[in-house]
Amino acid sequence: MAILNWTGNPLVDTGLAVMIARAGKEKIEDFTADDFNNVVSDGIWLAKANRQLKAFAMVVGINSPLTNPSLNSSLRKKNGGKLDPRDDEGLKQYCKLLIELKESALKDLKEESALKGKSGKFLCESCGERPATEVLSKYKKRIGRDWFPLAGSIGSDAQTLPAASRTARICSQCLLSIQFLPLGSIIVGGKIACFQYTYMELTQLFVKKIYKETINNLQLLKSGDKLPAIGQGKGTKIALIELIDTMYELQSNKRIYELPQFTSLNIWLFSNSGQEPDSDLIEIPNDALTFLWNAAMLRREEIEKLVMKESKKIDFQLLECIKRKSEYAGFYPQKETKPASKELFELYHTKVLGNSSSKLKIAEWLAYQIKTKLSTGNKNDNKLLSKLIKEAAYKDKELLAKIKGIFAELAEEGLFSLEDYSLLFPRETETKQIRIKNDGFKWIWFYLNHENINDKKPEGGDNLFTHPLIKAFAKDTFDYYQKEKGMKYIEKKILDAFKKGEITTSDLQRWFINLAKIKEGYTNEKWDDLCRDDNGNNMTNEVRFQFRLEMANLYRLAGGGK
Ligand SMILES: [Zn+2]
Repeated sequence: MAILNWTGNPLVDTGLAVMIARAGKEKIEDFTADDFNNVVSDGIWLAKANRQLKAFAMVVGINSPLTNPSLNSSLRKKNGGKLDPRDDEGLKQYCKLLIELKESALKDLKEESALKGKSGKFLCESCGERPATEVLSKYKKRIGRDWFPLAGSIGSDAQTLPAASRTARICSQCLLSIQFLPLGSIIVGGKIACFQYTYMELTQLFVKKIYKETINNLQLLKSGDKLPAIGQGKGTKIALIELIDTMYELQSNKRIYELPQFTSLNIWLFSNSGQEPDSDLIEIPNDALTFLWNAAMLRREEIEKLVMKESKKIDFQLLECIKRKSEYAGFYPQKETKPASKELFELYHTKVLGNSSSKLKIAEWLAYQIKTKLSTGNKNDNKLLSKLIKEAAYKDKELLAKIKGIFAELAEEGLFSLEDYSLLFPRETETKQIRIKNDGFKWIWFYLNHENINDKKPEGGDNLFTHPLIKAFAKDTFDYYQKEKGMKYIEKKILDAFKKGEITTSDLQRWFINLAKIKEGYTNEKWDDLCRDDNGNNMTNEVRFQFRLEMANLYRLAGGGK
């Protein structure tokens, strides 16, 4: 039977995972009372390690007996502030407290069942399982931020625990776990990060990896020097690489073939030093974790290379993009760098951003069509193609109009429908006027930068992700002019005029009014709904283009064209 359980407190659990790793165990169930005793031992090894770890001050500040200048005279300013190893009054006191905490925790373990519900004892506010310790109060010490992160101190700050009114109540075991936390610490964006999976075995393996690296780094360190925590000064990138590496190790040892179902990850971030203690949370839901898991399995080297090259600005780093569910610029071509593989790009889009693979396939197929058309065309076409491939060409309005012209050509050839278009460029829902989400242009640009692109068009659905009136409006207009003026008129006065850019809002209005005379449903309100913005101004760019696509299809279906 397990002597300890995970507490749910990410700080305490990370410290606990270090203790388990130190004992050479992989599961909390295998961690025995003897292991516990041996791991803490006389506390000296831990005190020495903590003194060298920069993470220690980040976890408990500088008022711990181990680092407080009043107990470690060499740390005083007048002595240069550099710790002299012989100056170990603080170390002695720290170890003494560690031993007492250990004994008290072991006693709690033995008496655990007897204590349940025992009156007069407060329960620990961190684990809720064991009685609050009396070890510190015996020495007239309070539990503040110097013993438990974010515990607050009386009269100055109220943080996660109600210590603004009284001292926090924490058990010996939880306090002891915190002393192990620096050895399993990794820094994400300047804060200590605790990785808490819903599947705790993964947490244990992750912490074990960080612990082992930290211990190795400590062994290489000169005595008296301080060891920066893993990931310090690197934004979020090192944490992400560690995360991917742990997944890769699990996969290659065949310990865990697949990510356990429904697993998600919370990365708790906190800083406990200085005047502004703070905490934050990065939630990595199951889908995003599946992206990382599959990326670790299929494209580990590629993704790690990308992450290593990231800029220092957190906003542009992959972990932050995963957190915000936003596009990651690193997947797109950049000056002198090729874009990411299609596999990695599509994994990110489907898992993290929730884009369907049929959307991406349409973009890829359009890239193929654009490339084919322009590379077999004249000099100007070739020039246009190289412009479209170039960085950020998709942001250029003139170029976008040219791309849309190719869409219309494809529609005239019967290859591309309004349904296909609206799948890739669905209607923006936040605006009154019809406007599209134009991420699709960026994806086309991504695929244009690849050699092996798919020439097969995916099965388009029948769903229309735009205003349904556009389709009906085009059909009724087509029927009207076919009857009144014939196919030649439609070709010259509508399709060719569109191509020349001659169709304006007033043409659209004219067609609308024509229909209003003969058909129900072409009312002022409908026009307003379809063509006006919030201020009542006509805004018909997108409506005209979609109308044109549909018109081209109708014309071809009716037997028009060459
Ligand atoms: Zn506790």
